[in-house]
Formats: sequence, C-alpha cells, structure tokens
Amino acid sequence: MATYDDTNIFAKILRGEIPCKKVYEDDWSLAFHDINPQAPQHILVIPKGKYVSIDDFSAKASADEIAGLIRAVGNVARQLGLDAPGYRILANIGLDGGQEVPHLHFHLFGGKKLGPMLRRD
Ligand code: 5GP
Repeated sequence: MATYDDTNIFAKILRGEIPCKKVYEDDWSLAFHDINPQAPQHILVIPKGKYVSIDDFSAKASADEIAGLIRAVGNVARQLGLDAPGYRILANIGLDGGQEVPHLHFHLFGGKKLGPMLRRD
C-alpha cells in the first residue's frame, strides 16, 4: 500500500496553501471544482484525512470517516441539483486506474448525458 505524500496538491488545498473553488465542506470532507473540467459539472470530493486511495481508505479509515465521505458525495450532488437528472462518480486508483493525485478523491461528473462508462478503443 502506498504511503501518503504530504506534498500532494490536494493536501496543499486542505491546508489552505493553494486556493480551490469550494462547493462544499463538512467535518469529514471538502469538495471543489476540478481545475480541468471534463463535464459541465466536474467536482472533486475528498476526505480531510490522509488517504492515498480507496485501497488505503477502505483498509484504514474509521466508519465515521467512510460515512462522512459518502454522505458528502450525495450532499454535493443534491446541492448542485444533480440528483434528479443523474450524475456519475468515479475514483481512479493507482497506475492502471490512471490516478494522478495521491490523495483519495471522487470525481463527480454531471450536467449532460455522460455516454459510455469507459472509452471504447
Ligand atoms: P486523477 O487522475 O488523480 O483521478 O484526477 C486528478 C484530478 O485533479 C484531475 O482531474 C485534475 O484536473 C485535478 N487537479 C489537478 N491539480 C489540481 C488543482 O490544483 N486544483 C484542482 N481544483 N484540481 C486539480
């Protein structure tokens, strides 16, 4: 399991060292706009705890942290009015998953019909 790197960009956002366009925050989670949106709505929902990925989080996070993050995803979607039309969440894990930032994040995509789940090539 990868060790957490405190210098990753989302750790800096959580510490307030670099700005983000915040859409939601609670005791467990922070959500903000992706800097390079891939859909009309593209939000990143992250835990405040230091977890590299779902692998790390599912093994080590407390039940409160897990519940907090999952509730935050739903709260963000409802806050943005995406619950009725629908949306997609996605988490990349590790090399094959294409994860670039080593702090767990759920991508939340919405605002249009999103098409196939995976690129077909
Ligand atoms: P991954 O490939 O790790 O699943 O996704 C990382 C995401 O973080 C990408 O969609 C990328 O656009 C986003 N991102 C990278 N750096 C920043 C940043 O400094 N601010 C914000 N808001 N998003 C970022």
